[in-house]
Amino acid sequence: MPRLDDPAARLPLQGFGDGAPEWMAPMIRHCARCGGRLTYGPVPGDDRDRYHCTECGHVTYVNPRVVATTLPVTDDGKIVLIRRAIPPGVGTWAQPGGFLEAEETVIQGAVRETLEETGLTVEPVSIVGIYAQPRASVVIVAYEAVITGGEMVITPETLEVQTFAIEELPWAGIGFNTSLWAVRDYVRRVRPDLDVDRLGIEQSDF
Ligand SMILES: [Zn+2]
Repeated sequence: MPRLDDPAARLPLQGFGDGAPEWMAPMIRHCARCGGRLTYGPVPGDDRDRYHCTECGHVTYVNPRVVATTLPVTDDGKIVLIRRAIPPGVGTWAQPGGFLEAEETVIQGAVRETLEETGLTVEPVSIVGIYAQPRASVVIVAYEAVITGGEMVITPETLEVQTFAIEELPWAGIGFNTSLWAVRDYVRRVRPDLDVDRLGIEQSDF
Protein backbone atom coordinates (compact mmCIF):
# COMPACT_ATOMS: atom_id res chain seq x y z
CA MET A 1 0.00 0.00 0.00
CA PRO A 2 1.35 3.47 -0.82
CA ARG A 3 1.68 5.78 2.15
CA LEU A 4 -0.97 8.46 2.53
CA ASP A 5 0.17 11.88 1.39
CA ASP A 6 0.30 14.46 4.20
CA PRO A 7 0.58 17.80 2.41
CA ALA A 8 0.24 19.97 5.54
CA ALA A 9 3.33 18.30 7.03
CA ARG A 10 5.45 19.76 4.22
CA LEU A 11 4.58 23.34 5.16
CA PRO A 12 6.42 25.31 7.83
CA LEU A 13 4.46 25.93 10.99
CA GLN A 14 3.88 29.68 10.85
CA GLY A 15 2.08 32.13 13.10
CA PHE A 16 2.39 29.83 16.06
CA GLY A 17 3.17 30.93 19.60
CA ASP A 18 3.08 29.08 22.91
CA GLY A 19 1.08 25.96 22.09
CA ALA A 20 -1.49 27.87 20.04
CA PRO A 21 -1.83 30.02 16.93
CA GLU A 22 -0.89 33.63 17.66
CA TRP A 23 -4.41 34.90 16.88
CA MET A 24 -5.83 32.57 19.52
CA ALA A 25 -3.49 33.47 22.37
CA PRO A 26 -5.48 36.57 23.49
CA MET A 27 -8.50 34.30 23.95
CA ILE A 28 -6.77 31.90 26.34
CA ARG A 29 -5.98 34.22 29.22
CA HIS A 30 -8.45 33.14 31.88
CA CYS A 31 -9.36 29.87 33.53
CA ALA A 32 -12.76 28.53 32.42
CA ARG A 33 -13.23 26.97 35.88
CA CYS A 34 -12.36 29.81 38.27
CA GLY A 35 -11.53 32.85 36.14
CA GLY A 36 -7.94 32.93 37.38
CA ARG A 37 -5.02 33.96 35.18
CA LEU A 38 -3.54 31.32 32.87
CA THR A 39 0.16 30.72 32.38
CA TYR A 40 1.95 28.50 29.84
CA GLY A 41 4.46 25.99 31.13
CA PRO A 42 5.06 22.54 32.59
CA VAL A 43 2.27 20.79 34.45
CA PRO A 44 2.57 17.67 36.62
CA GLY A 45 2.12 14.38 34.76
CA ASP A 46 2.35 15.85 31.26
CA ASP A 47 5.28 15.72 28.89
CA ARG A 48 4.55 19.06 27.23
CA ASP A 49 3.85 22.58 28.32
CA ARG A 50 0.20 23.52 28.80
CA TYR A 51 -1.87 26.54 29.61
CA HIS A 52 -2.88 26.16 33.23
CA CYS A 53 -4.48 28.24 35.94
CA THR A 54 -2.24 30.07 38.40
CA GLU A 55 -5.07 29.94 40.97
CA CYS A 56 -6.59 26.45 40.79
CA GLY A 57 -4.20 24.53 38.50
CA HIS A 58 -6.93 23.60 35.98
CA VAL A 59 -5.35 22.80 32.58
CA THR A 60 -6.75 24.50 29.47
CA TYR A 61 -6.12 22.23 26.49
CA VAL A 62 -5.79 23.83 23.07
CA ASN A 63 -6.96 21.39 20.41
CA PRO A 64 -8.14 21.91 16.85
CA ARG A 65 -11.79 22.02 15.93
CA VAL A 66 -13.40 19.91 13.23
CA VAL A 67 -14.66 21.46 9.99
CA ALA A 68 -17.03 19.12 8.14
CA THR A 69 -17.23 19.65 4.38
CA THR A 70 -18.49 18.00 1.21
CA LEU A 71 -17.62 17.92 -2.44
CA PRO A 72 -21.14 17.54 -3.86
CA VAL A 73 -20.98 15.76 -7.21
CA THR A 74 -23.76 16.00 -9.79
CA ASP A 75 -25.11 13.04 -11.77
CA ASP A 76 -22.91 14.08 -14.70
CA GLY A 77 -19.76 14.31 -12.60
CA LYS A 78 -19.57 18.04 -11.95
CA ILE A 79 -18.37 19.38 -8.58
CA VAL A 80 -20.30 22.03 -6.65
CA LEU A 81 -18.11 24.77 -5.17
CA ILE A 82 -19.01 27.99 -3.41
CA ARG A 83 -17.38 31.39 -3.58
CA ARG A 84 -17.06 32.55 -0.01
CA ALA A 85 -18.85 35.70 1.18
CA ILE A 86 -17.56 35.60 4.75
CA PRO A 87 -14.03 35.66 6.17
CA PRO A 88 -11.63 34.03 5.98
CA GLY A 89 -10.98 33.79 2.27
CA VAL A 90 -13.73 36.13 1.01
CA GLY A 91 -14.05 35.81 -2.77
CA THR A 92 -12.20 32.51 -3.04
CA TRP A 93 -13.65 29.18 -4.11
CA ALA A 94 -14.02 26.38 -1.59
CA GLN A 95 -16.14 23.35 -0.92
CA PRO A 96 -19.21 23.89 1.30
CA GLY A 97 -18.70 23.14 4.98
CA GLY A 98 -18.27 24.55 8.43
CA PHE A 99 -17.63 23.94 12.09
CA LEU A 100 -19.09 20.84 13.59
CA GLU A 101 -21.63 21.51 16.34
CA ALA A 102 -21.23 19.72 19.66
CA GLU A 103 -24.20 17.36 19.24
CA GLU A 104 -23.47 16.34 15.66
CA THR A 105 -21.73 13.47 13.95
CA VAL A 106 -19.24 14.56 11.30
CA ILE A 107 -21.56 13.42 8.52
CA GLN A 108 -24.51 15.28 10.04
CA GLY A 109 -22.43 18.45 10.24
CA ALA A 110 -21.23 18.12 6.67
CA VAL A 111 -24.79 17.60 5.39
CA ARG A 112 -26.16 20.54 7.42
CA GLU A 113 -23.43 22.94 6.37
CA THR A 114 -23.78 21.95 2.72
CA LEU A 115 -27.53 22.62 2.84
CA GLU A 116 -26.95 25.98 4.57
CA GLU A 117 -24.34 27.12 2.07
CA THR A 118 -25.70 25.73 -1.20
CA GLY A 119 -29.39 24.85 -0.79
CA LEU A 120 -28.59 21.25 -1.74
CA THR A 121 -29.36 18.15 0.25
CA VAL A 122 -26.51 15.69 -0.04
CA GLU A 123 -25.51 12.25 1.07
CA PRO A 124 -21.82 11.60 1.77
CA VAL A 125 -20.60 8.47 0.01
CA SER A 126 -16.86 8.42 0.65
CA ILE A 127 -14.08 10.26 2.45
CA VAL A 128 -11.96 12.31 0.07
CA GLY A 129 -9.47 13.27 2.75
CA ILE A 130 -8.75 14.64 6.21
CA TYR A 131 -6.51 17.70 6.36
CA ALA A 132 -4.88 19.60 9.21
CA GLN A 133 -4.42 23.36 9.16
CA PRO A 134 -2.59 24.02 12.45
CA ARG A 135 -2.41 27.77 11.99
CA ALA A 136 -6.20 27.93 11.83
CA SER A 137 -6.44 25.27 14.56
CA VAL A 138 -8.79 23.15 12.47
CA VAL A 139 -9.03 19.68 11.00
CA ILE A 140 -11.02 19.55 7.77
CA VAL A 141 -12.92 16.40 6.83
CA ALA A 142 -13.93 16.33 3.17
CA TYR A 143 -16.57 13.88 1.91
CA GLU A 144 -17.57 13.11 -1.63
CA ALA A 145 -21.35 13.48 -1.64
CA VAL A 146 -24.18 12.71 -4.03
CA ILE A 147 -26.91 15.32 -4.43
CA THR A 148 -30.30 14.02 -3.39
CA GLY A 149 -32.43 17.17 -3.63
CA GLY A 150 -32.73 20.90 -3.20
CA GLU A 151 -31.90 23.77 -5.51
CA MET A 152 -28.65 25.70 -5.63
CA VAL A 153 -29.17 29.08 -3.97
CA ILE A 154 -27.00 32.00 -2.94
CA THR A 155 -26.94 32.43 0.83
CA PRO A 156 -25.50 35.13 3.09
CA GLU A 157 -22.40 32.94 3.30
CA THR A 158 -21.86 32.63 -0.45
CA LEU A 159 -21.23 35.00 -3.36
CA GLU A 160 -21.75 32.20 -5.89
CA VAL A 161 -22.65 28.54 -5.96
CA GLN A 162 -21.57 26.84 -9.15
CA THR A 163 -20.99 23.44 -10.70
CA PHE A 164 -17.70 22.76 -12.41
CA ALA A 165 -16.71 20.01 -14.81
CA ILE A 166 -13.28 18.64 -13.94
CA GLU A 167 -11.79 20.51 -16.90
CA GLU A 168 -13.35 23.79 -15.75
CA LEU A 169 -12.36 23.83 -12.08
CA PRO A 170 -11.28 27.31 -10.88
CA TRP A 171 -7.90 26.12 -9.67
CA ALA A 172 -6.31 29.57 -9.36
CA GLY A 173 -9.27 30.86 -7.37
CA ILE A 174 -9.22 28.21 -4.67
CA GLY A 175 -8.18 30.04 -1.51
CA PHE A 176 -7.45 27.50 1.19
CA ASN A 177 -4.76 24.86 0.92
CA THR A 178 -7.16 22.41 2.51
CA SER A 179 -9.70 23.06 -0.27
CA LEU A 180 -6.99 22.72 -2.90
CA TRP A 181 -5.86 19.43 -1.40
CA ALA A 182 -9.42 18.10 -1.20
CA VAL A 183 -10.20 19.01 -4.81
CA ARG A 184 -6.88 17.56 -5.95
CA ASP A 185 -7.51 14.33 -4.05
CA TYR A 186 -10.97 13.98 -5.56
CA VAL A 187 -9.79 14.71 -9.10
CA ARG A 188 -6.84 12.35 -8.61
CA ARG A 189 -9.37 9.63 -7.89
CA VAL A 190 -11.73 10.22 -10.82
CA ARG A 191 -9.18 11.45 -13.38
CA PRO A 192 -5.89 9.64 -12.69
CA ASP A 193 -4.67 10.82 -16.10
CA LEU A 194 -4.40 14.43 -14.87
CA ASP A 195 -1.30 15.70 -13.04
CA VAL A 196 -3.28 17.52 -10.36
CA ASP A 197 -0.23 18.50 -8.32
CA ARG A 198 0.54 21.02 -11.05
CA LEU A 199 -2.95 22.54 -10.82
CA GLY A 200 -3.74 25.27 -8.33
CA ILE A 201 -1.43 27.32 -6.16
CA GLU A 202 -0.49 26.09 -2.72
CA GLN A 203 -0.23 28.96 -0.23
CA SER A 204 2.79 29.03 2.04
CA ASP A 205 0.40 29.79 4.86
CA PHE A 206 -3.36 30.12 5.24
ZN1 LIG B 1 -8.65 28.20 37.75
